[in-house]
Amino acid sequence: SVKTSRKRNYRFYDQRFYESLRSRLEQEAELRLAIERDQFVMYYQPRIDISTGMTSSMEALVRWAHPTKGLISPADFIPLAEETDVILSLGEMVIDKVCAQLADWEKAGKEPVPVSINVSSRQFNETDIAKILSASLTRHKIDARLIEIELTESSMMGDSQEVARALTAIRRMGIKLLVDDFGTGYSSLAQLQRLDFDLLKVDQAFTARLEKTKEGSVFFLAIITMAHALGMRVVAEGVETEAQAEILKALQCDELQGFYISMPLAPSDMEPFPLRRSLPLTA
Ligand code: C2E
Ligand code: MG
Ligand code: MG
Ligand code: MG
Repeated sequence: SVKTSRKRNYRFYDQRFYESLRSRLEQEAELRLAIERDQFVMYYQPRIDISTGMTSSMEALVRWAHPTKGLISPADFIPLAEETDVILSLGEMVIDKVCAQLADWEKAGKEPVPVSINVSSRQFNETDIAKILSASLTRHKIDARLIEIELTESSMMGDSQEVARALTAIRRMGIKLLVDDFGTGYSSLAQLQRLDFDLLKVDQAFTARLEKTKEGSVFFLAIITMAHALGMRVVAEGVETEAQAEILKALQCDELQGFYISMPLAPSDMEPFPLRRSLPLTA
């Protein structure tokens, strides 16, 4: 009867819900265990200055080196980490791994190159991020000028006093502030300048549109012109082709990042260090 099938459906959904909840809890527990067992590794993706071809900085990108599944992309675990408190300990661990890596490079006699770290808005709202950064810098004896912080536009929405205060404290330490995935949120350039951001990272979706439509270039030119007028630099994310790189150079974009320049690399694969890539890239 109708009544039974409805009941059966109800039970079916109930069970599915229970199972998804269970697997979420299992995944969360697995993530926590992975932190305890130190199963995360950092890859580094260079950003180059268009005018010199020199690496201006490298972005630290976390990967989960899973014992049976191999390297897991942050896209597959950062969202869950952000829904739980895991992002707070994971974020602190990332900061410490980057500072330890900078100390290793220094010990190995490498030329100092800044590293940018992706920081979640929850780290800003729920932890004393300035204090965590300064403790890690002190522990590894790292100059604050070698660290940059990437924050997405959406994490600055609301423009809370608390976030503004944390940004000021970080800025005073000598750490640069970068806006990540610019163009995907709703922040105004004036607001970003007031918060003292140094550089805008324009989202890769806009880079992908460069070769396809005229509007793609128009958008970039407007951003670059306004950012420069406000004293900020611009990097294009997700540059994959020589044509995109050439258009961005003509538009006077300051820096490039993307597979065309370099994939994110494990420290053991970084030779030469730092990377230098003058446009157009040859071999
Ligand atoms: P994101 O910060 O915008 O990082 C850029 C992402 O684009 C990276 O993916 C990078 O590998 C990828 N990418 C770089 N160049 C290209 C390109 O030319 N083409 C394409 N299609 N993709 C490119 P990844 O490493 O998978 O990271 C994804 C996102 O996960 C990051 O986006 C960032 O939001 C987050 N994430 C990564 N590491 C951390 C971390 O340590 N902490 C936090 N909170 N988030 C992180
Ligand atoms: Mg980023
Ligand atoms: Mg980005
Ligand atoms: Mg992105």
